[in-house]
Amino acid sequence: MVLPVRRPRRHTRWYVSAGVVVAVAILIVVVRLVEQIGPDRAPTDRFVVARIVDGDTVELRGGDVLRLLAIDTPEKGEPFYNEATELLRELSFNQTAEIEFTGRRRDKYGRLLGYLYIDSLFVNREILRRGLGYLYLFRDNELKQDQVGQMLGAQRQAMTEKIGLWSVKREPEEYYIQKVGSFRLHRPGCHSVKNLKEGSYRIFETREEGLATGLSPCRNCKP
Ligand SMILES: [Zn+2]
Repeated sequence: MVLPVRRPRRHTRWYVSAGVVVAVAILIVVVRLVEQIGPDRAPTDRFVVARIVDGDTVELRGGDVLRLLAIDTPEKGEPFYNEATELLRELSFNQTAEIEFTGRRRDKYGRLLGYLYIDSLFVNREILRRGLGYLYLFRDNELKQDQVGQMLGAQRQAMTEKIGLWSVKREPEEYYIQKVGSFRLHRPGCHSVKNLKEGSYRIFETREEGLATGLSPCRNCKP
């Protein structure tokens, strides 16, 4: 009698095939997750500016949106909105951009936050130099950053030359007020600075005096 030949290798093959299938499935899931989240960019990455959203926001080729860090340009309907948007277009549209990140790379809307450079031009600074935006900070330590020092210097130059936003004639308030620790400048009647205790605020005689220290106008009372 001839015994049937056992083929143990068949079992091995079955397990190997199952393993390969599982591995491929995991790989597909991982790749799709990475695609959905979108990898963060390295500081040296370069991008092409594909669309201008407004004076301080652009869309990059590939779909990421970049909000230019530490500046604020006029909203639609406000004076110099068109000029600010056109300046950003002139400087960056269809150009290869380099983005410098300093802290958090994305804001709560998922937009990239950084300093934009085209060739060697520091675009955030150039916008302030032309008087088409305000420096916009959140914390004291930001004032120590080299880039912020450059931007504040550029803004002061535009203030001296009274160009762009600094050419707008405004009815002066008696004084302007800053809550200590905040980077916004308010009109005396703004609800954000009601009932402040002695020592918790700082008074400026003029709007320019406050903004020259690195403060930016409150978005509600718009001094
Ligand atoms: Zn205010």
